Amino acid sequence: MQTVSTLFINGQAVAGEREAFPVINPATGEAFAQCPAASPEQVDAAVAAAQSAFRTFQHTPDAELQAMLHRVADLIEANADELARVVTLEQGKPLSVAHMEVAGAVGWTRYTAELQVPVKVIEDSEERLAELHHKPLGVVGSITPWNWPLLIAVWHIMPALRTGNSVVSKPSSMTPFSTLKLVELINQVVPAGVINIVTGEGGIGRAMTQHPEINKIVFTGSTPTGQDIMRKAADNLKRLTLELGGNDAGILLPGEDLDALVPGIFQTAFINMGQTCAALKRLYVHESQYDEVCQRLADIASEQVVGNGLDEGVNFGPVQNKAQLDLVVELVEDAKAHGARVLSGGSVQPGNGYFYPPTIVADVRNGVRLVDEEQFGPVLPVIPYSDVEEAIAMANDNVNGLGGSVWGTDIEQARSVAMRLESGTAWINNHAEVLPHCPFGGSKMSGIGIEFGEEGLLEYTQPQLLSIKRN
Ligand code: NAD
Repeated sequence: MQTVSTLFINGQAVAGEREAFPVINPATGEAFAQCPAASPEQVDAAVAAAQSAFRTFQHTPDAELQAMLHRVADLIEANADELARVVTLEQGKPLSVAHMEVAGAVGWTRYTAELQVPVKVIEDSEERLAELHHKPLGVVGSITPWNWPLLIAVWHIMPALRTGNSVVSKPSSMTPFSTLKLVELINQVVPAGVINIVTGEGGIGRAMTQHPEINKIVFTGSTPTGQDIMRKAADNLKRLTLELGGNDAGILLPGEDLDALVPGIFQTAFINMGQTCAALKRLYVHESQYDEVCQRLADIASEQVVGNGLDEGVNFGPVQNKAQLDLVVELVEDAKAHGARVLSGGSVQPGNGYFYPPTIVADVRNGVRLVDEEQFGPVLPVIPYSDVEEAIAMANDNVNGLGGSVWGTDIEQARSVAMRLESGTAWINNHAEVLPHCPFGGSKMSGIGIEFGEEGLLEYTQPQLLSIKRN
C-alpha cells in the first residue's frame, strides 16, 4: 500500500526527526507501515510557519477561501479509493464504512465552503452604527482521535481554513496515515504554511497545547486528555473546542413496535463497532418488553459478519487497538461478576486480530462499570426499568452528556422525555447521527463548545464590535 511517510511543514514534505514508529493493522495485530515522528523543534517550526502564513492568509477574500475548499473536496473525491483503503488498514472498519467516511469528508468540506461568516447589525440609530464582525483567531492546533480519523480531521481543519486561520494538525499515532494524506492534498491548494502536520505521541500533543503561538486548540478525544489540554491552555488563554467522551443513554418507551425500532437501536449502538463518541452506549427498556428486546438484539448481533474490513462480505471489523480491546474485556467480565448475562459475543475471537463480536449484555444496572463508564467498543448493556421517570433518572445519572435518545411512536411523549435528557443532542427514533448543518457538542463532562453549522464555524473566530459614532 501507499502511505504518506513525510510530515508537512511550511508547504514542504519533511522527514520526522525522531525515530519512526509502527502503525498496527487491528485486523492482523501486526504493523503495516512506519509513521514518521516529529521532534518538539519541528512542532515549533510548524507553528512558526503557520503564524507566518496567517499574516497574509487571514486577508484572503471569502470567495477565494470557498473556492479553495471546493478544490480540496475535489482532491479528496479523486483520491477516495486510496483514502478509504488507508482508513480500513489503520482503523479496522469495513471498507464500505471507510468509503462512507470519505464521502462524509467530501460532503462536510463542501458544506463548510458554502457557510458564511455573518455580520450582525446590533444598532443602527442616529447616535451610532454598531456591527458585530468575526475575525480569524490565528493558528489553530487540531488534535484528533483514532475512531473516525479522516472525518474528524476534516471537521477540525475545514472550518479553520474557511474562516482564514492557519492550522497545525496532530493525528492519533494509531491512525495517522489518512490525515497525513489529507494534509498532503490540502497543501496542493493552499499557500505554504497554511496547513502543517506533526505526528507522535503525548509529548507532541502537549507541546501544542502549551505552545504560546497557538491561539486555539480544537480537540476530539477522551475526557481526561481534554481536561489536561484545558489546564495547559490557560497560559495564553487559548480558545478551546473540546469534543470529549460520551456514555449516551437510549430509552425505549413501553409498549412499542419492536419490528420498527430494534434494528435502528442495534445499528446506532454498534456503528463503527461501537467506537463512536455519540453511539448509543446504554439502553433502557421497560420490563414488560425487556426479555424480547434483549433476544432480538442478540439475534441481530449473531447475524453480523465479523472479520477483516478489507474482505468481501464483512460488515463488522475489529476493535481499533489492544488497550481498547482489553478495556472492553475488563468491563464485560466485571459485569458478569456482578450477575450480568451475556446473550451474544462476550469473548475475544482467537487469532492475532482484535476481534470482539457484537455483544449484548442483559441484567445489568446503573452502578456496574459497564453501564457507568464509556466502553467505546462493541458492547451494549441493556437495563430494565419499571416506569419512565425511573428511566430518565437512570439515563441522567452519569457524568457524561454528549447525546441521548428516546424511541417511541408517540412523538409528543417521546419529545417530552427527550427534552429532559441532560445531553448536547437528543434524538427521537435515532442516535449517533451528526450532520454538517446541525450544531453538535457535549454537555457536562462531554465537552465545551460546538461544531458544525454557523455556530460551529464561529468558534474559529474572534468577535469584534465595530462602533461608529454618529452624533
Ligand atoms: P485520546 O484522548 O487518548 O487521544 C486523542 C488525541 O490526543 C490523540 O491524538 C493523542 O495522541 C492526543 N493526546 C494524548 N494525550 C495528550 C495530551 N496530554 N495532550 C495533548 N494531546 C494528547 O482519545 P482516543 O482514545 O484517541 O479517542 C477515544 C475517545 O475520543 C473516546 O472517549 C471518545 O468518546 C472520544 N471522542 C469524542 C468525540 C466527540 O465528538 N465528542 C468524537 C470522537 C471520539
